[in-house]
Amino acid sequence: MIETNMQSIYVHIPFCKSRCRYCDFFSTTQLDRRKEYVDTLLAEWASYPHHTPNTLYLGGGTPSMLDVEDIKRIIDAIATKDTTEITMEANPGDLTLDKLVALRQAGVNRLSIGVQTFRTPLLRLIGRRHTGREARQAVRWAQKAGFNNISIDLMYALPRQTMVQWSMDVRKAVRMGVQHISCYCLTYEEGTPMCESLKKGEFRAATERLQNRMYQFLCKVLKRQGYEHYEVSNFALPGYRSRHNSNYWNDTPYIGLGAGAHSYDGNKRWWNPCDLDIYMQGIKNNNLQRETEDLTDEQHHIERVMLGLRTSEGIEEQEVSYAAAKVNDYINRGLLMRQGSRLVATQEGLNILNRIIEDLL
Ligand code: SF4
Repeated sequence: MIETNMQSIYVHIPFCKSRCRYCDFFSTTQLDRRKEYVDTLLAEWASYPHHTPNTLYLGGGTPSMLDVEDIKRIIDAIATKDTTEITMEANPGDLTLDKLVALRQAGVNRLSIGVQTFRTPLLRLIGRRHTGREARQAVRWAQKAGFNNISIDLMYALPRQTMVQWSMDVRKAVRMGVQHISCYCLTYEEGTPMCESLKKGEFRAATERLQNRMYQFLCKVLKRQGYEHYEVSNFALPGYRSRHNSNYWNDTPYIGLGAGAHSYDGNKRWWNPCDLDIYMQGIKNNNLQRETEDLTDEQHHIERVMLGLRTSEGIEEQEVSYAAAKVNDYINRGLLMRQGSRLVATQEGLNILNRIIEDLL
């Protein structure tokens, strides 16, 4: 199917014990199918030409719902000595010190823990299964198990979350000494229980003003603590940027394995069906139907601008030379800045980045 040497491999593990109330990702609670699913993943990997990826990312869903033995099977099949970053997403409630030690031994060297918030009542409200205490414990255990590249996910603009509560979450994350923090603003996706509750008036969404204040606070505190703000939602201590995700943002080809996973070879995208049965039957019978999209030059340009402006490297200014007047206006308003031949969003610009991108495209 592809001949390019793919530098990144993404493996989708779609299993979750229960569904979080805000989530619209593809996942399933059919936990009894995990072994069979891993067998299928490995068969899918075997169908690709040989690659020596430099990053491997196990995402979900909840990869920490797999037995360590199955995680090791995946790593042993895909990773080589050149695979320097092996990340696994984990939910705090699934982790024990023993399991973390075993994961480290299995080859995982970067852990991405879905903390979201350290406040248990807010976790309950958004339907997460773990508590704030379990989140803190998971980070400490991971450190004790020898992980020295830990990322945590935090969410802001949760219903009823105050500025004070958010500042405590951010400060706690910094105090815990994690190397990487990803922060996402809660969005209410159509069809999710959170969206239904919002419509019924069970709570109110955070105002745009509060969202902006929370984001600005986050950027200010993390910058002061030495974190590099290298992508609109991602912050890393020097030397700890996610190489896997940076590859996505730098337009590097990747293979996605598993139900619902997307792949990209530099010219086209293709993706597996978001259905466990169709995916597993298709791989087993060697006739999986994948949807494919050939990228036109214009689509490529749109993606470079959209992804590039989200990062601290920005884009070549010539990418948007047709909109010079608008660019100068954004620069004069302090929302974009020039760095040599490149155009980069300022911190204020990141706050309204979607609007800027839409305007420039
Ligand atoms: S654990 Fe992740 S994928 Fe699973 S339901 Fe919650 S947010 Fe969605």
